[in-house]
Amino acid sequence: MPRELRYILTFFSSSLPSKLNASCNCFCASAAGETVSAVVLSVWIVDEEAAQVVKRIFNLCMEGYGTAQIARILKEDKAETPSNYWKRIGRNYPSKPTADPYGWDPKTISGILEKCEYIGHTVNFRTNKPSYKTKKKVLNPPEKWQIFENTHEAIVDEDTFNRVQELRKNKRRPTRTGRTNMFSGIARCADCGSKMYYCAMNNYETRQDHFVCSSSRKRSTEECDSHFIRAVVLEEGTLQNIQLVCLCVSAFEDEFREALGALKSSETKKELYAKRKMLQKAENRCSELDRLFKRVYEDLVNGNLSETRFKMLSDDYETEQTELKEKIELLNKEIQEIQEKTDNIEKFIRTAKKYVGIEELTPTVLNDMVKAVYVQKPDKSSGKRVQKVIISYNYAGILPNELLNKFYSRCTQKETA
Ligand SMILES: [Zn+2]
Repeated sequence: MPRELRYILTFFSSSLPSKLNASCNCFCASAAGETVSAVVLSVWIVDEEAAQVVKRIFNLCMEGYGTAQIARILKEDKAETPSNYWKRIGRNYPSKPTADPYGWDPKTISGILEKCEYIGHTVNFRTNKPSYKTKKKVLNPPEKWQIFENTHEAIVDEDTFNRVQELRKNKRRPTRTGRTNMFSGIARCADCGSKMYYCAMNNYETRQDHFVCSSSRKRSTEECDSHFIRAVVLEEGTLQNIQLVCLCVSAFEDEFREALGALKSSETKKELYAKRKMLQKAENRCSELDRLFKRVYEDLVNGNLSETRFKMLSDDYETEQTELKEKIELLNKEIQEIQEKTDNIEKFIRTAKKYVGIEELTPTVLNDMVKAVYVQKPDKSSGKRVQKVIISYNYAGILPNELLNKFYSRCTQKETA
């Protein structure tokens, strides 16, 4: 059982006998004073105090802090490390309390950020003991884990958890000046797709901090033209776009949903039902063909069927079965796609509605809403420097401009009417 889980989930009853305590280790829960017979096994109870620390760690990650920075913040705020917290509340913890009760190890933080127990799942077989002779446990590869979903109360919502996993794939380092920017890892070059580097110099003011295409910096400048963009410009433009999107989504939710290609939920249900029925039919026919093939084969062996006739029939069955298998594969894919698409659009709408009327772009808002921003080459043909930035939203991708314009003009009409 992962340590952090023990950290957040604890017994409520201190009257549990030690034997039970040991056998069910960390998955007993009971209200204080309850008799042992009333203890419900395998029910998790969330320890509020520790859960707050876990929530804080996830929020800090969404705000763009790395594990070392989070460890520093927790130390400054005097948040106890799991081992010390457990000692204080009188529980066993697998490792000794740290010398500094607030000395968080960044590794502990990354461990916490990766545990899907916090969204309410239980993971079994994360480790195994190769031999009874040793106490040592080895980590199993994730494909060997067994995950039971929604087994207990969630501490972190699933959207946040998923976004944190993505953010952690794009680890960012502070620049030499110690300044970081929320667009690191999100800003990309529209021409070559490379990430853009954040450049902050001591001798520049913050307003001069900028991003450049990483491939133009690495190789010769001909590889990819300068895609220089100032960080403040990127921030202002992205904020405006997010404000517009959130406004449109909240004002025209149903139409937006439809425009993004999702059917109304009743229609989606109907379509899914029809497809599942077709799938079932195809699968039934497929197994029927197996039986038919077996029967004609037996007939051939018993001499009840001529070889020519057998060949003809079995060829027919085989052709039909191949076609059916293709159909089944296609239907499965279609069903999955419909479900994924609907889920993603709902997630996008839910997120957008959270941020209607925001005034400021914080790293949390950016990470929650935006997957990437693609910075194009500046266009100077009009005499002015015009630079287009395309925003790809989490779960929805790039929203067509016409769509936003259409809804936006209706939003303003609504206001004046
Ligand atoms: Zn480039």
